[in-house]
Amino acid sequence: MATIVQRNDQVLRRKARDVPVPDIRSARIRSIIANMKKALASQPDGVALAAPQIGESLRIFIVSERVEELSIKVEERREQQKHISPDAHRYLVFINPVLTRMSRQKQFMEEGCLSVRWLYGKVKRSVKATIRARDERGKLFERGASGLMAQAFQHETDHLDGVLFIDKAVDVQEILPEK
Ligand code: ZN
Repeated sequence: MATIVQRNDQVLRRKARDVPVPDIRSARIRSIIANMKKALASQPDGVALAAPQIGESLRIFIVSERVEELSIKVEERREQQKHISPDAHRYLVFINPVLTRMSRQKQFMEEGCLSVRWLYGKVKRSVKATIRARDERGKLFERGASGLMAQAFQHETDHLDGVLFIDKAVDVQEILPEK
């Protein structure tokens, strides 16, 4: 299984390349996306992952649909989770994504990263964002989001440009996982 690279790895600092559209359905790209899903599924606290985080300098990221669950009421979420096994989560795939609109309204949001264990900080992000990308079949689509999903769009797009959240964050602190 693909391992998630950590912050000293130079692949995280490279500007990733677009995936040529005719290659999107190739075995190689499909296998990279499958590995990204497996790597993200292995991290209970992870909601999104960019291809450079598994060592592939390509403009692809995935976001767990769990991100949207996080914005519904806690009680409803608990109720839902009784019926959903962890690996039943689905992932939205964004290939060659471009942020087409970002709200002027910004706010500091808590952020961490699977490639920057175990630091957390606050990053100023647009409250709303719209992204245009291709899906796994190569079809162009556009999706608007607010809250955590909008934050994920911005964090993951930064990864594709070689930027890590710690480059922008304030109040960075280390919070080790509970044993
Ligand atoms: Zn990250």
